[in-house]
Amino acid sequence: MPELPEVETVARDLRPRIVGATIVGARCTWARTLRSHDPVTFGEIVSGHRIEDVGRRAKQLVITLSDGLALTIHLKMTGQLFVVSAGAPEDPYVRLVLELADGREMRFRDIRKFGKVGLYERDAVTGELVAEAGGAAVFAGVGPEPLDEAFTVRDFRRRIRARKGRLKPLLLDQSFMAGVGNIYADEALWSARLHPLRTARTLHPGDERRLFDAIRSILGEAVERRGSSVDDYTAPDGDGSMREHLQVYQRTGEPCPRCGRPIRRIIVGARSTHFCSWCQRLSAADRKGAAAVLLTMKGGTIRRGRGWTEIGGDGALGLTAEEASRAAAACRAERTRRAAATRRAAARASIGAG
Ligand SMILES: [Zn+2]
Repeated sequence: MPELPEVETVARDLRPRIVGATIVGARCTWARTLRSHDPVTFGEIVSGHRIEDVGRRAKQLVITLSDGLALTIHLKMTGQLFVVSAGAPEDPYVRLVLELADGREMRFRDIRKFGKVGLYERDAVTGELVAEAGGAAVFAGVGPEPLDEAFTVRDFRRRIRARKGRLKPLLLDQSFMAGVGNIYADEALWSARLHPLRTARTLHPGDERRLFDAIRSILGEAVERRGSSVDDYTAPDGDGSMREHLQVYQRTGEPCPRCGRPIRRIIVGARSTHFCSWCQRLSAADRKGAAAVLLTMKGGTIRRGRGWTEIGGDGALGLTAEEASRAAAACRAERTRRAAATRRAAARASIGAG
């Protein structure tokens, strides 16, 4: 899914193309693309409004219209935006079209249909986007923008010290900080030499500083390089080149650029997580809890392949062989216990049914 740098790139590409254009109509072929309006009402509301700005908040585009209206576009997995002349061929994956007065169209193409377009008002007092006057702000629960000049290491420290979680899920949490997803979380943690399963509260001030700097520099570089072209992401002016500059993301088994040992992959919160178990050590205090996190997940066994260890494993966690086998035994026992409980529940249900 596009993260901050990819969405920022789309916003920058769109801005010179559509700012100043006036919307004269809208066509929507997949109603669920629209968050809260039906296609007809949506078309009636946006028609006649001029596009005044294209920006970004977190992982969404924000298109400011005249008279205090705004559109948000969440590209999700496969969303793409194109500005073309009205006569250009249209494929069946185009879900929404904004017709412009100058004979062009902005088309939202989205193969998997997870993308969402919202239509909001800008609150005259707070400047926040709201669904209705006086209502809750659309981005109320979203954390600060990491590339914002006003966001300092002091703010970052204050926020991270209020959290108990482990670093990878924390970086993905949009209420903690906006815009970071799976790619840049892995890259920032590798750059800061911090294990993805390290708990936030074990960080020293130096660790916090390194992580803050790593996040900002990785995101900044990715914006410069127009983002990482993974999956279906593409910007109106074409693909970015950040992918070739990623150090660990989707490089399982390749040598760590810092120490040469193989990059590992583990699953944390259902997300692939790439890191170097040598450069990103886990403290003894964090190891036991980390093993439990990995082993209680679905399919929580230790699997090894050529150059990789998935879900747990001594190398991935820095466990000794004995600790790893104890953790695996605990995992087997837990699964046996759960299976027995399921059988008992099924037996009770069949007695109840009889
Ligand atoms: Zn390394």
